[in-house]
Amino acid sequence: MTNPGSDPNEHHRVVIRAVPHPGELDARGIPITCPNCRARRDWLLLNVRHQVFVRCRCATEWHEPDLTRAYFDLHFTAPEREWDDFDAAMRALAYDGLLAGTTWS
Ligand SMILES: [Zn+2]
Repeated sequence: MTNPGSDPNEHHRVVIRAVPHPGELDARGIPITCPNCRARRDWLLLNVRHQVFVRCRCATEWHEPDLTRAYFDLHFTAPEREWDDFDAAMRALAYDGLLAGTTWS
């Protein structure tokens, strides 16, 4: 475990790692539900520094403390892409709200 404060890149560049998660997510044993549109699946998981965020197709996004960096690394060892710019990442992944309410089946 390295000290986050000692990361030489910490102040220069924030890498966003994003991994789509089509299914339900139940880090607490109960499926996570979007507080805005009540969706229960089709998430985008975002790892920024040492925090993990959940983003819904409706562009609602929140910090999910039950999803740790360790959990992210354990379950999502191969993020599809990395971005330097958050907005660009969201557009590329179609999680910018344009597809709110859309579910893929
Ligand atoms: Zn939602």
